[in-house]
Amino acid sequence: MPRLELAALFEYSSSEGCHLCLEWSEMTKLLYGKPVADQVLNQVRARILSFVGQHYRPPRLTVVLVGEDPASIIYTRRKRDVALSLGMEQETMTLPANASPTLVQETIQSLNENPHIDGILIQRPLPKGFSEEDVLQWIDPAKDVDAFHPVHAGRLFLGLPAFRPCTPAGIMMLLDHYGINPAGRVATIVGRSSIVGKPMASLLLNANATVIQCHRQTKNLAQHTREAQILIVAAGHAGLIDESHVRQGSTVIDVGIHRTADGKIVGDVARDRIEGLVQYISPVPGGVGPMTIAFLMKNTMDAAELRMTQLSGS
Ligand code: ADP
Repeated sequence: MPRLELAALFEYSSSEGCHLCLEWSEMTKLLYGKPVADQVLNQVRARILSFVGQHYRPPRLTVVLVGEDPASIIYTRRKRDVALSLGMEQETMTLPANASPTLVQETIQSLNENPHIDGILIQRPLPKGFSEEDVLQWIDPAKDVDAFHPVHAGRLFLGLPAFRPCTPAGIMMLLDHYGINPAGRVATIVGRSSIVGKPMASLLLNANATVIQCHRQTKNLAQHTREAQILIVAAGHAGLIDESHVRQGSTVIDVGIHRTADGKIVGDVARDRIEGLVQYISPVPGGVGPMTIAFLMKNTMDAAELRMTQLSGS
C-alpha cells in the first residue's frame, strides 16, 4: 500500500478510534463502593440500636488473628474500627505464628461455645501448616460471618437462604445499586477460589446470569472475558486484564488489590487501559473493598439476630 494511503488509513482509523475513545471515556462510570457501603452500615447501626433495646447488649464479633502478617494486622484493625464505630462489641484474639492447628481449633471451639459471642472470623492467610479444608469447618455455621463453612457454601449453591461470603455478596449489592441487572447477561468470572470466584458464580447464576468461569488452566482467557457483559476479576494478578480482554460497553468489577513497588494501590485490571472502552468499572481502592467490610457487619448483625431468635424460641 502506498505510504500516503497507509498514512491516511492510519489517520482515519486512529481518529475514529479516538472518537470512540472520547465517546466511551465520557460514559465510563466508576462504581464507588463507599456510598453503597454507607447505606448498609447505616441500616446495621439502626438494627444495633434495636438489638440493644431488646437484649441489653450489642452484637459481639471476635476476630482470630494467627501470627503477625502486617497486611492482616491492618485489615483486622479496620474491621475493629468499623465494628466499634457502629456500636458493636469487637475483640481480636491474637495467637502466635507458631500456634498449632490444634490450639487454634480449640480456641475457635471455645468461641463457638461462648454464648456472648455472635460472630467469629479467622483472618487469612493462616501460617503454613494449616489446611484450608479443615479451617473452613471449625467455626459454628451460626457464627460464621465470613460464610465460608460448607453448610453456607452448599446452601448458596442450591439457591437456599444462607449467609453469603462478604466480597461476592457485596459485589451483587454494588451491581444492584448502580442498576446493573445480571439477569440474561453473560457474566465471566476470572478466578475460582472458595472465597470469591465460586460463590460469585452461584450468586450470579441465582440472579439468572449466564456464567462463564475462568481459572489458571483456562485456555485463551481473553476469548472468554471478551464475551462478558459483566466481568468479575478475582485472580490475584496485578494488571492481568487490559484492553484486549474486555467487551465494549461492559461492566468490569475488579476484586484484586496490590501495592506496587512505588507504593500505589492497584487492582487486577489495568484501569487506565480500559477506561473509555467499558461502561462501568469499580475502582481500586474504593470499589469492592468498602462493600466487603460493610457486608461483614451485616452478616454479624444477621448472625446475632438469628441466634437470639433461635435461643428465645428454644
Ligand atoms: P481470591 O482470594 O482473590 O479469589 P486466590 O488467589 O484464592 O484469589 O485465587 C486466584 C484464582 O484466580 C484461582 O482460582 C486461579 O485459578 C485464578 N487465576 C489466577 N491466575 C489466572 C490467570 N492468569 N487466568 C485465569 N485465572 C487465573
